[in-house]
Amino acid sequence: MAKKKFKSESKRLLDLMINSIYTNKDIFLRELISNASDALDKLYYRSLTDKKVKVDRDDLKIEIAFDKDARTLTIIDNGCGMTKEELEENLGTIAKSGSLSFKENMTKEEKIDIIGQFGVGFYSAFMVSDKITVTSLSVDSKDSYVWTSEGADGYTIEEASKKDIGTEIVLNIKEDSDEFEYSKYLDEYELKTLIKKYSDYIAYPIQMEVTHHDLVDEEKKEYKDHKEIETMNSMVPIWKKPKSEVSDDDYDNFYMDKFSDYDKPLKVISSSVEGMTSYKSLLFIPSHAPYDYYTQEYEKGLALYSNGVLIMEKCADLLPDYFSFVKGVVDSEDLSLNISRELLQESQSLKLIAKNIESKIRKELENLMKDDRDTYISFFKTFGVQLKYGVYNNFGQDKDKLKDLVMFYSSKHERLITLSEYVSEMKDGQEAIYYASGASIDKINSLPQVEQVKDKEYDILYLTDYVDEFCITAIQEYDSKKFVNVSDGSLDLESEEEKKEVEKVNKKNSSLLKDMADEIKEVSEVRFSNKLKSHPVCLTTKGDVSIEMQKVFDAMPNEMGIKAETVLEINEKHPISDKLKELYKKDKDEFIKYTKILYSEAKIIAGLPIDNPTEISKLICDVISK
Ligand code: ADP
Repeated sequence: MAKKKFKSESKRLLDLMINSIYTNKDIFLRELISNASDALDKLYYRSLTDKKVKVDRDDLKIEIAFDKDARTLTIIDNGCGMTKEELEENLGTIAKSGSLSFKENMTKEEKIDIIGQFGVGFYSAFMVSDKITVTSLSVDSKDSYVWTSEGADGYTIEEASKKDIGTEIVLNIKEDSDEFEYSKYLDEYELKTLIKKYSDYIAYPIQMEVTHHDLVDEEKKEYKDHKEIETMNSMVPIWKKPKSEVSDDDYDNFYMDKFSDYDKPLKVISSSVEGMTSYKSLLFIPSHAPYDYYTQEYEKGLALYSNGVLIMEKCADLLPDYFSFVKGVVDSEDLSLNISRELLQESQSLKLIAKNIESKIRKELENLMKDDRDTYISFFKTFGVQLKYGVYNNFGQDKDKLKDLVMFYSSKHERLITLSEYVSEMKDGQEAIYYASGASIDKINSLPQVEQVKDKEYDILYLTDYVDEFCITAIQEYDSKKFVNVSDGSLDLESEEEKKEVEKVNKKNSSLLKDMADEIKEVSEVRFSNKLKSHPVCLTTKGDVSIEMQKVFDAMPNEMGIKAETVLEINEKHPISDKLKELYKKDKDEFIKYTKILYSEAKIIAGLPIDNPTEISKLICDVISK
């Protein structure tokens, strides 16, 4: 039988796994038990929806057996099993999506981080075994197959003679080494402890043969051993246990196991609701974004149970898009087991639960923001984009729910603040909430338009995320205060006198300005301004589309042709103004060169690309070599 090779990324991952970069090898057992439990769920669910599949729930179980002499540990389940193709697909590939980008010189922590993003799963068994044999008969197949692998070299798949539906996994446990005593995984007491610790809540019995030492003669202190099959786990789902009986560690372990995360959750939200519709829910906010979170492949949803029985692994209707990062389970006795997915979607109970869950998550986040700002900020840095997206999605219908959860960088405080904090610190007479957008804080800091607003000691919100400005545009106003972009032409900070003065200059030079505008074409207007302090020029905009928004539109795959209406403003007090006026009279050719150079400068400052860089650099050279 020819050996098949693992896909190259899987092989690298396996190499790392086998060289056990994980310190906690124990987790392999909970991974295998959890896979077995999933397989039992799948078979049971199948029996509810497919008349041809008959299953008695009470028969479903997971068996653990060990043999000290043969050094084998066996995990058996009578779940859905795997077909030949599934063995190949599921056990032959680790990184099912995306690619693992291992780089040279990565630290151990960085490698763990990458591996963790893909979930350790089945492969963790290679940490403790030098050979793994998986024999399986699928509910969808007549023939059984055995998959064998001794590690990174590859695997074989052959026909087998398994008669009952399900999967049997045999691990050949590694020999003990100086560093690690692998024999612990062949020890009854150790195994019992591990199962209890990590897999107690599993809804099916995990059975193992245990030895009892019975005292047969008290006087002679004589004992006799007898063996008995026992169920190791309490089978009570963790969300059904009273909070007082569950430790933080229990919640964390459950989360890491169930949702394949290598990190503890940032926040655990557990609730038990009695009423029109009763349910228990256990929700988690991850401490980092899942590797596929910002891809099409990510599926939001909560695991949905009807009185302890899984009916749907990812019920999307339970979570709004803006909370799509939340993981967890919901269990309600009010949902019927045999309900079809279509009917479930329409179910009033489900809608009610979804509504409650949304407001529960929101309240918890609000509290977190108030009580533990550092943790909230860490959360916001990870998932804030999602909340901001929620503000403007669906024509802003959820903006009022979310506007107090979003934060922006404040120029005054040099950290993230909320809109309510901004408004409460507004200066006397300040009418608007000022903001500026750009690619980074440094870039915004060096925007010419920012200088003037800072000079007047107003705080400015710095928008550095591409969604920020859309978010703010959707909110429209906060506490009756409008948002004003400091790059907006209508920014109104000058006194009436200053305005009149600059108006005079503009009138006087109207033909000069018009000629400049005719030369540039892309701008709708050129004008002298007293907005700028040290910079010679800047671009401002008229209307609803700002330059940063235009950049987002430009980056979209299907060009929508949405452009900002720009104005080139020239600092009236800068020596360049006099120079322009002088050239306009004396040397029109030179005047046009200056116009083009100044416009390019303004574009560079605004972070916009220059369409004709060779022409511009030639012009600059012409001018400076004079
Ligand atoms: P994950 O469980 O995160 O999907 P694993 O590497 O642990 O990743 O398992 C890969 C896949 O192999 C599972 O999704 C499942 O389809 C299949 N699988 C693993 N163990 C079993 C089992 N005992 N019975 C049936 N299918 C299984």
